[in-house]
Amino acid sequence: MSQTNIQLIRGFKDILPGETELWQFIEKSAITLLEDFGFREIRVPIMEKTELFARSIGEDTDIVEKEMYTFADRKNDMLTLRPEATASICRAYIQHKMASQDPVRKFYTIGPMFRRERPQKGRYRQFYQIDAEIFGVASPYADVELIFLLRTLFDRLQVTDTTAHINSLGCPVCRPRFKAALADLLTAAAPTLCADCLRRKDRNPLRVLDCKVPGCRAAMANAPSILDYLCDDCRTHFDTVTDTLARLDVPFEIDKQLVRGLDYYTRTAFEIQTGALGAQSAVAGGGRYDGLVESLGGPPTPAIGFAIGFDRLAEIVAASNPDVANGPDLFIAALGDTARQKAFEWSTALGCEGIGVSMVYERKSLKAQMKQANRVGAGRVLIVGDSELEAGQAVLRNMADKTQQEIPIDALVQTIKRAMENG
Ligand code: AMP
Repeated sequence: MSQTNIQLIRGFKDILPGETELWQFIEKSAITLLEDFGFREIRVPIMEKTELFARSIGEDTDIVEKEMYTFADRKNDMLTLRPEATASICRAYIQHKMASQDPVRKFYTIGPMFRRERPQKGRYRQFYQIDAEIFGVASPYADVELIFLLRTLFDRLQVTDTTAHINSLGCPVCRPRFKAALADLLTAAAPTLCADCLRRKDRNPLRVLDCKVPGCRAAMANAPSILDYLCDDCRTHFDTVTDTLARLDVPFEIDKQLVRGLDYYTRTAFEIQTGALGAQSAVAGGGRYDGLVESLGGPPTPAIGFAIGFDRLAEIVAASNPDVANGPDLFIAALGDTARQKAFEWSTALGCEGIGVSMVYERKSLKAQMKQANRVGAGRVLIVGDSELEAGQAVLRNMADKTQQEIPIDALVQTIKRAMENG
């Protein structure tokens, strides 16, 4: 009977050693920056009651309509693998009554999200996000802080080909006026709209503005700008965001077509776009959601957040820094059973001292072991055989400059540690 190998699920992927070093590097850079700015880590489950996402993201969004991994568990509760993190963080903020101690909270979380989109380069069904949220701050400075942090992180990662696109989506006071103005145009344009936009036209008309289908784009080219319909408060908020970004030298573009796919946004919406990714140009997105916490049953709480597409960011960073992966600090080439036993003991002791060691546990020739040391990219090789053990000296070879030195076997761990510290 022939057996086929089991493959991973379409749209899912493995992140392998060789890539994970880069992911860790990005993750550390993000965590350092966010913690320096007072964000604290929160970890929320990857599964929630379906209702949480339906109520927060919005029934008429692409995500809720057709992209969620939803199933009935054994007791027929409807559960969903999270398509994004904001809803869960809001739930946690409300459930743990965080507002009653201090409504102002800054959170970050990093982890997998799930959306059943059509897979393609840069678009996966399990993808990762680096997510940051500020609760309890209505001031436009919070909006600027988040956009500034994205800019700073990308600078630190040497991702330069990016632009911050920003728009305002207004608020429940002014948005209906804009929707009414848009409705006339949509009715006139109906024959040229795609099937999705025909549905959106009545239920979620703003979404037609950022549809990528050429017919819809053409129909929306002369659409009114929501910025012309903002109420005074939204206008002042938006002007303060743009003025402050300019004062901080953060480059941005006002993009009146930017809408974003989630219903809960109010006022500032933003997206970091890059030319480095082909069709999937958004590497991060976010916005303000002043009504969401209250609509989920919490106290009125202004809030704003962003999500970075980790997979896409890793792709860009990999293209400019191909060599984040490092080999072990030391390879031990041991010849003979006694030397190999000693080498194994040293490798455990050196590992505890923070020195990465690699060796082969089987009997192999010196030549084969040196080949292996090269293959794994070890910085140094310690060579030890039975005669070296007898003489009380081993040979330490620097693989970069090919120099060798004899080192005493007594206190070997300390000697190697010193040699590593001295470069
Ligand atoms: P969103 O949660 O839709 O605002 O998306 C925020 C960021 O997550 C986007 O700018 C993308 O970089 C990334 N992202 C969203 N969906 C996917 C996906 N299916 N595959 C990979 N990255 C994604």
